[in-house]
Amino acid sequence: MCGNWKMYKTPGEARALAREVANGLRGADDGPEVAVCPPFPSIPAVREILEGTSVAWGAQNCSPHLEGAYTGEVAVPMLVDLGCRFVILGHSERRQIFGETDSSVHEKLQTVLGAGLTPIVCVGETLDEREAGRTEEVVDRQIRGAFEGIPGAEVGRTVVAYEPVWAIGTGRTATPEQAEAVHRRIRATLSGLHGEDVATATRILYGGSVKPGNAGELFSQPNIDGGLIGGASLSARDFLAIVGAECSTE
Ligand code: PEP
Repeated sequence: MCGNWKMYKTPGEARALAREVANGLRGADDGPEVAVCPPFPSIPAVREILEGTSVAWGAQNCSPHLEGAYTGEVAVPMLVDLGCRFVILGHSERRQIFGETDSSVHEKLQTVLGAGLTPIVCVGETLDEREAGRTEEVVDRQIRGAFEGIPGAEVGRTVVAYEPVWAIGTGRTATPEQAEAVHRRIRATLSGLHGEDVATATRILYGGSVKPGNAGELFSQPNIDGGLIGGASLSARDFLAIVGAECSTE
């Protein structure tokens, strides 16, 4: 289960939220793996609180380059130094607002895997694409664009997040059946690329307006391995309730 804090939470606010999340999970070490991804400047504050707890932390983006004259960018070795375990890649807000493409996601994926971190690769169709019956084609293209040419052993330790763009931050969630159908398809595509063992090992999260009230039904689907949570992860109470919903489906 991963919280995407987007561009919310100053370092001070992030410290308080991380503390609430960690306190809420104290003693629940046999539950699902939990991580939070704050904005870059808040990562050190979150680390201060989460080090030594069961909650991991990560970043929401990175540069494909290891260092260099790339003003405004953040390199993966910097994230390693900050103790990050995860990096979200190709979030739809980055694809739509900042022009990220399948090929930039692929380049970043190679860099993140090379550094031993776990990428969370986001894929998902827009409303127009769904209504035109193009969901599978779009998600296939995104999965192939990211994973083609990456060794199978590496793919098996990645996380994919299916996040239909029309469900992100809109309050409109995919039904469990809609989400499960796409998750099943993603696993089949991964299996075609890298074999069944790799496809089974790859965790596939659902994201898009997950709330305490709809989490249980989504997470009980056979191919939904957890959630990438945006808005609801900004409230410790909601995020903890969503983690609880996953525990009860395990
Ligand atoms: C996200 O930003 O990854 C996300 C799923 O957002 P929300 O939960 O707010 O729809």
